[in-house]
Amino acid sequence: MKITEHIEASKGKSLFSFEILPPLKGQNIQSIYDGIDPLMEFDPQFIDVTYHREEYVYIEQENGLLEKRVVRKRPGTVGICAAIQNKYKVDAVPHILCGGFTKEDTENFLIDLDFLGIKNVLALRGDAVKSETYFKPEPNGNCFANDLVKQTTNMNKGIYLDTILENSHKTDFCVGVAGYPEKHMEAPSLEKDIENLKAKVAAGAEYVVTQMFFNNTKFFEFVEKCREQGITVPIIPGLKPIATKSQLSVLPHRFHVDMPKELISEVEKCKDNSEVRQVGVEWCIDQSKELIAAGVPVLHYYSMGKSSNIQKIASAIF
Ligand code: FAD
Repeated sequence: MKITEHIEASKGKSLFSFEILPPLKGQNIQSIYDGIDPLMEFDPQFIDVTYHREEYVYIEQENGLLEKRVVRKRPGTVGICAAIQNKYKVDAVPHILCGGFTKEDTENFLIDLDFLGIKNVLALRGDAVKSETYFKPEPNGNCFANDLVKQTTNMNKGIYLDTILENSHKTDFCVGVAGYPEKHMEAPSLEKDIENLKAKVAAGAEYVVTQMFFNNTKFFEFVEKCREQGITVPIIPGLKPIATKSQLSVLPHRFHVDMPKELISEVEKCKDNSEVRQVGVEWCIDQSKELIAAGVPVLHYYSMGKSSNIQKIASAIF
């Protein structure tokens, strides 16, 4: 089922979903199942699987010179999505990126997803390669997420890159996109970022999932601004329970989000990370309750490979 159909069918009840990462290369699919199994009792309507592009690593050779190698540390997004749909009968949402893909690669990727019966994708630009400062699209690749949305929705109309195809199959993807309550780090202002979000919706995106945030007011204000600019699609809040003291600086640095001062002082008081996890779970439960009261369509949790804290939150909420 499409995400939009899940939301319609829920008749106003907030649904449960979460995001997982493919395991590091070398691990097997069981590590994925071990993370999902404890969350199945809360009836997730969909599970997102992130996509991790290539990175450059430098290997020292016997002669002392460095050899540059291209590696993907977390491959397997498509296989994991197929395995989830097969084993749990839950919709899996692969993340698809502009970065590292030519338009031809994207087309072939989407054809594979369509053949596997995957109905939803989250279309993202992706970040710069780790060793680089700015995002660079592939030659003949999509530059921004709205281009990727357009390519996907074109395939829904039977329009492929190869224009001489006749009677081409129309795919039926429901496309989601990312939104940033605290602004994407490269956007000159929140207003401009929302204007760019509107372009993704105009290109055919049917729902928005937000970056994590720790202050619900930022989410509510963001939704209000989106509605004022004419974005009418469902906006799904993304939530991450803080789990370690170091995340007080890691998360703002990596995701460009602010931490409220009450949360910072609660975390600073903790003697160890087991106490931080408890603070993170309680904060996230409070956020979730307020969001449900405000009528959000779905609560979407970032598990980042650890499901035990999401399990505690879900058991208090669903
Ligand atoms: P875009 O929407 O293309 O926006 C990127 C920047 O360009 C923004 O500043 C925007 O304002 C601006 N912009 C957009 N369109 C235009 C335009 N036409 N002209 C000029 N400027 C424009 N990354 C991964 O690598 N793998 C993942 O699986 C992944 N999952 C994610 C899931 C969620 C819910 C979120 C919120 C992020 C995820 N990311 C993931 C991170 C994401 O790839 C980065 O945040 C990336 O830097 C931006 O992606 P985007 O799709 O928002 O880009």
